[in-house]
Amino acid sequence: MRVSKLLMPTLREVPAEAEIASHRLMLRAAMIRKLAAGVYSYLPLGIRTLQNVEKVVREEMDKAGAQELLMSALLPAEAYMKTGRWDIFGPGMFRLQDRNERDFCLGPTHEEIFTETVKNEVHSYKQLPLTLYQIQTKYRDERRPRFGVMRSREFVMKDAYSFDRTAEDLDKSYQAMYKAYCAIFDRLGLDYSIVDADSGAMGGSGSQEFMVKSEVGEDVIAFCDACGYAANEEKAVCIPQKKAFPSETKPMEKMETPDAHTIEQLTEFLGVEPYRFAKTLIYKIGEQYVAVMVRGDREVNPIKLQNLLGSAEEAELAEPFAVREITHAEVGFAGPVGLSVPVYADQEIMEMKQMVVGANETGYHFMYVEPGRDFQPTAVADLRTVVDGDICPKCGMPLKTAHGIEIGHIFKLGTKYSKALDLTFPDDAGEEQPVIMGCYGIGINRCIAAIIEQNNDENGIIWPMSIAPYKVEIVVVNAGDAEQIQLAEKLYASFGEKGIAVLFDDRDERPGVKFKDADLIGIPLRITVGKKAKDGLVEFKERKKDGFTEMSYTEAEEEAMRIIGGSLK
Ligand code: ATP
Ligand code: MG
Repeated sequence: MRVSKLLMPTLREVPAEAEIASHRLMLRAAMIRKLAAGVYSYLPLGIRTLQNVEKVVREEMDKAGAQELLMSALLPAEAYMKTGRWDIFGPGMFRLQDRNERDFCLGPTHEEIFTETVKNEVHSYKQLPLTLYQIQTKYRDERRPRFGVMRSREFVMKDAYSFDRTAEDLDKSYQAMYKAYCAIFDRLGLDYSIVDADSGAMGGSGSQEFMVKSEVGEDVIAFCDACGYAANEEKAVCIPQKKAFPSETKPMEKMETPDAHTIEQLTEFLGVEPYRFAKTLIYKIGEQYVAVMVRGDREVNPIKLQNLLGSAEEAELAEPFAVREITHAEVGFAGPVGLSVPVYADQEIMEMKQMVVGANETGYHFMYVEPGRDFQPTAVADLRTVVDGDICPKCGMPLKTAHGIEIGHIFKLGTKYSKALDLTFPDDAGEEQPVIMGCYGIGINRCIAAIIEQNNDENGIIWPMSIAPYKVEIVVVNAGDAEQIQLAEKLYASFGEKGIAVLFDDRDERPGVKFKDADLIGIPLRITVGKKAKDGLVEFKERKKDGFTEMSYTEAEEEAMRIIGGSLK
């Protein structure tokens, strides 16, 4: 492709709305343009990259024995109503009605539709195991669309679904996808970690996420360098930490603590460390209100609470009016003593002695409270969020935490969807059994953003060869020079004949402009044809390396073919 003909409106200015490198660079390198919050158009360099990622994903899915099909994005409501997700998705789902007032949604994920397809089209259990996939556009009305295509409201997902008769068969299907995902992310040049993930809300038995460690990631992962344990924050097992508590046992005592609503204010007022307090927070989960207790220096993990309660609904902090009604006090004075709602205590609470808790009375706290003596929790569980330095549940060494971008997710679903939608097969005794399912997703656009986060410098993107929109860029220094143009044209034609995606900056622009653009759009190899064209010499440069090498144009071509060949294997 000739740059003179290419729709490549690169931007010199850093777009104000873009907070992170990948978003800035995708805009500046003329890959995407914003249409609305979380909705983007792809320009030529963007769509070529997207298609290259899809190609890698498709090849590895096919290799793993998955079969590609394509479902509509416009989906009738019925199946989602049967599984309950019509309600569960809430405002996250784009809904619409047709002219006959029939309900539809724009598919946020396709478990229901694949389950129904298999129910309708697979007539013998001998056709199982079966793994189906699609690469298709998803719609989610995200609460906070941001960071460009990293979290958008329309995005392309590769979603796969496996159908098996036994749990052992599901293990095999799951492992095949696990392997395929590793192959995909390796080929995409991503540095990633595989972490244990929460599977509660979706009703499954096991799940792992593929995470790219990055400051801008919205997930938090805990990992252990000593043994390799890695888990999403929602899944990370927290081991109670020992702390020093007073040895004498005083009776509970009410204390006036005016204007102390927060742990910080209380700490100051009473002059003791935050870990001596127990926070009691009122959560709303569905229609139910519950209290959750964690040590004063800890945070509640709402997903752990949701899983403990086995709820499909997310746990949210209760509104102030509800807190007032439940505790008979202003927000900040809740405590477990005499509370009417169920009290769920984090494990560490039970190891505390002589703690301070809210008195359920504005302006008062109880001192010297003992769990078991002064209150009895409804249940005790791991309800807190993991922190740096927590003890690894596998080997006992300290854990670290880091932000991560979730690029893929594999999930043992079990029978949730097959039961709800009546997808069964006859077992040996002729009894109908639900099919056992798995689901596997990769965010195609998010992968591109993650790749850019990991591969950029102050000048622009540095594409890995596998997904670069073009593999080689030929830059002619002076487009008015006959010898330069002739040699550049020759190289351009030659790469074209070899089937290499080649870009030719033939514009009549200052060389500086062309080099700036070349660095910005990040084509892995650059061959510059300048003054020495008359001697058949060119400059060969790899985007990821500093400096260039002067060589004959034939050598440059060979070198390019060697690098491309090697990296595309
Ligand atoms: P997240 O927690 O980031 O919202 P999710 O758990 O909702 O992701 P899944 O439903 O498992 O994601 O979707 C599979 C994959 O699709 C994710 O691993 C991610 O790569 C991608 N994905 C999900 N939501 C978005 C989005 N809003 N924009 C871009 N990609 C997304
Ligand atoms: Mg999501």
